[in-house]
Amino acid sequence: MFREGLLVVVSGPSGTGKGTLLSNIKEREKNIRFSVSATTRSPRSGEIDGVNYFFKTHEEFDSMIKNNELVEWVKYCDNFYGTPKKCIEDTIKSGFDCLLEIEVEGALNIKKIYPDCVSIFILPPSFEELRRRIEARGTEKAEVIDKRMDKAIKEMNYVDRYDYVVVNDRIEEAVSSISSILTSEKLKFERNINILESIGIENRSFA
Ligand code: ADP
Ligand code: 5GP
Repeated sequence: MFREGLLVVVSGPSGTGKGTLLSNIKEREKNIRFSVSATTRSPRSGEIDGVNYFFKTHEEFDSMIKNNELVEWVKYCDNFYGTPKKCIEDTIKSGFDCLLEIEVEGALNIKKIYPDCVSIFILPPSFEELRRRIEARGTEKAEVIDKRMDKAIKEMNYVDRYDYVVVNDRIEEAVSSISSILTSEKLKFERNINILESIGIENRSFA
């Protein structure tokens, strides 16, 4: 029985470990595809164009906005980030789950456009641990780290706008929590009406 994929939106302050958790999820969940955002930020060492992001100049990013190619976009810590529209729709319609790892403002916009999406907020175990992780990653200069910490504190105020909260303390536990969320969401009654009908269970309240 064909079922559209889930649209899953994951947010959390920079350095919380979203990338780390999601690369584990990628290994574990074979039905999931990750949306690749466009950004004007420079690639970090090891990042590949078209895999981690589509790295764009400001002019290229502007023309994506003008051509209506982005479903949402924001300015975050002096750089622009946006989600390509086509990729989300193609992925879900072909039955794969589509995961967006985006910041709060973009996530709230996605929730307005796709009210059926599932939203997950990843929290660090503490602010001290968050700073330690950003510093340990070693990809940002001191002033950028301060900016990202400020932004992190502001972003955490929006945690109550999300469906689920996962604290990334032990990696394996957090990964397993995310997998459980995906499984439970797929088992929800309202996502299984086609299947119930195909079994022959009739109930006018399905409509
Ligand atoms: P984000 O994608 O949220 O910006 P990253 O996945 O890049 O964060 O993780 C930031 C740093 O924290 C990385 O050095 C990563 O190895 C480390 N990290 C991630 N999760 C944990 C964890 N549960 N415990 C300790 N360190 C972690
Ligand atoms: P980073 O520079 O650390 O890769 O990303 C900075 C922030 O931008 C992160 O919170 C990340 O989730 C967010 N982000 C990445 N892509 C997008 C996007 O397409 N749209 C929005 N709104 N945020 C994004």
